[in-house]
Amino acid sequence: MKKTALWIKKRLPAALLAVALCLAGGAAAETKESVVGYQLDTIITLTAYCEDKAVLEDALKECDRLEQLLSKTIEGSDVWRINHAEGQPVEVDPVTAEVIRTALAISEISEGAFDITIAPASALWDFKEETPALPDAEALAEAASRVNWRALQLEGNTVTLPAGMMIDLGGIAKGYIGDAVRAYLENRGITSAVLAFGGNIVTIGTKPDGKPWKIGVQDIDGPAMESMLVLQMGGGSAVTSGNYERGFELDGVLYHHILEPATGWPVQNSLASVTILGDSSAMGDGLSTAAFVLGEEKGLALIESMKDTEAIFILKDRTVITTSGGEKYLVR
Ligand code: ADP
Ligand code: MG
Repeated sequence: MKKTALWIKKRLPAALLAVALCLAGGAAAETKESVVGYQLDTIITLTAYCEDKAVLEDALKECDRLEQLLSKTIEGSDVWRINHAEGQPVEVDPVTAEVIRTALAISEISEGAFDITIAPASALWDFKEETPALPDAEALAEAASRVNWRALQLEGNTVTLPAGMMIDLGGIAKGYIGDAVRAYLENRGITSAVLAFGGNIVTIGTKPDGKPWKIGVQDIDGPAMESMLVLQMGGGSAVTSGNYERGFELDGVLYHHILEPATGWPVQNSLASVTILGDSSAMGDGLSTAAFVLGEEKGLALIESMKDTEAIFILKDRTVITTSGGEKYLVR
């Protein structure tokens, strides 16, 4: 279960809202509509001011279509075909090629902290098991030796991966789908929406009254849906990667789903969560995972070096650190 929460402030009383809409020149027939779906192992909630809820239902179908390409487990998906190609080139959908291209760019700037060829290692971890167990250390070391993003070749829409290697887009696919759904809804005339893909939030415009959306960042020690910070945002994306998302505790150690590409073991550093703020949710998703792996110092330096991208790091001791432009997003 994802734990990042999203709070949408109570709507203004109806009369006031109507006035606000008229003042803004908006269509008064638009009402707040929501749909909920479940794709990519995540609860998806799309909320928008629109005249017809069908547009949101259609957007969920778009999520389905993208999941059919990007899922590791759906037989016949692009990722499945890449992972079963035994070294042969695979022609993929332009969408898949674009996700992989973005992933490789993030691998490059993070010096391999983000690596979609993590799959042989991530496949040895089962974070959903009732009685969790550690993978065999030797098997994990062997799997990690097959993790190397530089060995993945992408030319146009053709992917070639050496036999024995596999990819896992779990660290970036939801972000890409967030961007795609935003574009889809914008094309259908939506100007005010908040889209939640588990811990990934994408906003379109502000609320109809011109105020920013309020977004909760999960309390690192609290129960699911309890926020530790509240962010404000009008347009743009907020993606959080946290060590509490998927994992288990054994002998006092938290084993979670963000892995060190060099070893295949869960990252252990001072961080509990990383939130990336910026326009692109695909970049935000990859960067949140990358910065988590890099740790407090190098992770902050990476985000600080990027234009129009900010970060909020929450340390295990609950200290909150922001990049130089990150403060403006914080409500409390
Ligand atoms: P979530 O899926 O909870 O939003 P993240 O975006 O942080 O979390 O991505 C974690 C997922 O990414 C893991 O479940 C796994 O599929 C994959 N992954 C784990 N470690 C890495 C890594 N170092 N680089 C790229 N992907 C990773
Ligand atoms: Mg990610």
